[in-house]
Amino acid sequence: MKKISIIIPTYNEEESIPFLYERLEKIINQIKNYEFEMLFINDGSKDKSLKLIKELRKKDSRICYVDFSRNFGKEIAMLAGLDYAKGDAVIFMDADLQDPPELIPELIKYWEQGYDDVYARRKSRKGETWLKKFTSKMYYRILQSLTKVEIQKDTGDFRLLDRRCVNALKKLRENGRNSKSMFSWIGYNKKEVLYDRNPRIAGKTKWNYKKLIDLAIDGITSFTTSPLRVSSYLSIPTFIILFVYAIYVIVKMIVTGVFVEAFQAIILLILFFSGIQILLFGIIGEYLGRIFNETKNRPLYFVNEYNDEKEMND
Ligand code: UDP
Ligand code: MG
Repeated sequence: MKKISIIIPTYNEEESIPFLYERLEKIINQIKNYEFEMLFINDGSKDKSLKLIKELRKKDSRICYVDFSRNFGKEIAMLAGLDYAKGDAVIFMDADLQDPPELIPELIKYWEQGYDDVYARRKSRKGETWLKKFTSKMYYRILQSLTKVEIQKDTGDFRLLDRRCVNALKKLRENGRNSKSMFSWIGYNKKEVLYDRNPRIAGKTKWNYKKLIDLAIDGITSFTTSPLRVSSYLSIPTFIILFVYAIYVIVKMIVTGVFVEAFQAIILLILFFSGIQILLFGIIGEYLGRIFNETKNRPLYFVNEYNDEKEMND
């Protein structure tokens, strides 16, 4: 019998877990021809999440968990999920029931038809602020304009991936992770399924604008080197202006015999060019930082416990 692993990144979700288990279990009990594994990745929760997961595991052997040694962030938790999942396919799902478990049979249906990446696209986003919807829309528009790889709109991490996508994703072990761009980047047969995104069932969102901006910058810089190209584009008009201005100064000097008294213009120019230089250094620094991180080649996470066993990290 084929196995499906449901990967649930979990960070301080004690209020949601009971609801999640109840609804998820009901759905997977109805699906008879597959075995299931509910793999919780406890991402350094400070509340009773881990305790709840352990209690559930005593009752239900389909529950597995990986317990991180601290909070590493959702992206890394998802990678750990891929590493530890035993299934022939995996399904990513948030712990807060914003991704309805009722959609799972449909995801499986398309997997059976031969699709490797069945992703859920939201028709609506209930319970999210106008500002969050707007910024996320703008972000995707910018990201798409920067790259040739097609980015799926209005799509989160809620999706089913075939084993070969899982194996592909496991090979992408960079630090500044952005799963959405990786899902697009690996390719394979994709299929879209529409759903209504619900408000979170309990607890508070774990995101704040700083985290979201970090994610956005990681998304852009990990996906494309176009920002580097901005510097080349900017430097072209800069050098043209510089060249024209230099000729003008020299010609005027020769014709009038008087040195151009333009210290104000020069100050402005100095400000202008040093401004551009700072900008360019900023962009170079961004990539340098990434190279620095990648060359360290650190493990991306450490696990404290896997299914009641201490992980020795050997
Ligand atoms: N999450 C995580 N580590 C983090 C932040 C979030 O594993 O550092 C999990 C969280 O428990 C939830 C999912 O990622 O299952 C999505 O988080 P959240 O609902 O807070 O994000 P939102 O839906 O508001 O974008
Ligand atoms: Mg949520």
